[in-house]
Amino acid sequence: MIKLAFYGKGGIGKSTTVSNIALALTGQGLRVMQIGCDPKADSTALLRSGCVLTPVLDLVRRKAPFSLDEMICIGEGNVICVEAGGPTPGSGCAGRGIITALDQLKAHGAYDIYHPDVVLYDVLGDVVCGGFSMPMRGGYADRVFILTSGENMSIHAAANIAMALDHFQERGYAKLGGFILNRRNVKNEDEKVQELAADFRSRIVGSLHRSDMVTDAEELGKTVLSAFPNSEMAEEYRVLAKAVIEECSPC
Ligand code: ADP
Ligand code: MG
Repeated sequence: MIKLAFYGKGGIGKSTTVSNIALALTGQGLRVMQIGCDPKADSTALLRSGCVLTPVLDLVRRKAPFSLDEMICIGEGNVICVEAGGPTPGSGCAGRGIITALDQLKAHGAYDIYHPDVVLYDVLGDVVCGGFSMPMRGGYADRVFILTSGENMSIHAAANIAMALDHFQERGYAKLGGFILNRRNVKNEDEKVQELAADFRSRIVGSLHRSDMVTDAEELGKTVLSAFPNSEMAEEYRVLAKAVIEECSPC
């Protein structure tokens, strides 16, 4: 089982990118599980074709026993979709919520029962507190990929995530797999992100162009791979999916 975590600032394109990667990996014959670790709980929306999925934390809040199937929705390409969810706004800690959700998945035997070949964690990286760093620790992910554009706020968040990861290195936790450039077409974008990657002795493992096709597919409630499978953008996602998996052999 290969476990990959994707971090980045809110709105940078994590969920869209991870969902397209998930579908691309199923095209390689892999069984994929995607776990949204963002209180927004919309990570897997493009894969679920309307199938309603209750976030794990909502199930926990009901204070009644629940089954593994209630935490899961089988989406397009048979991607196993899970959303951690978040606390009631204004109370509780979102990071703590991620820990609870991941614990619940383990306790219900999710990995043993569904046997995914690849697990993708889609993690909000605006704050890298103990909870949000959970997928980097305790054997959850093998590699962490950080999405960023060349925008300063995005680079700032990416650097914070990479720094958090550096702190865990001596304990043998997840390694930095590299940076993914999701372009916003700002000036000197490639150079800025290359510089960031070099600062962390890493590299850009893949890059995506800004394309209206991504938002057009989103309007249809789909991934680019599903809505426009023969497009250049779909190919960019397939190339990226290959690159992240290759980065992980051996993991
Ligand atoms: P996050 O999960 O990081 O919060 P999303 O995946 O929800 O971000 O993406 C935010 C918005 O950016 C969405 O409307 C999505 O369609 C758009 N987007 C993401 N990547 C691209 C891209 N390469 N080109 C154009 N729009 C994109
Ligand atoms: Mg998201």
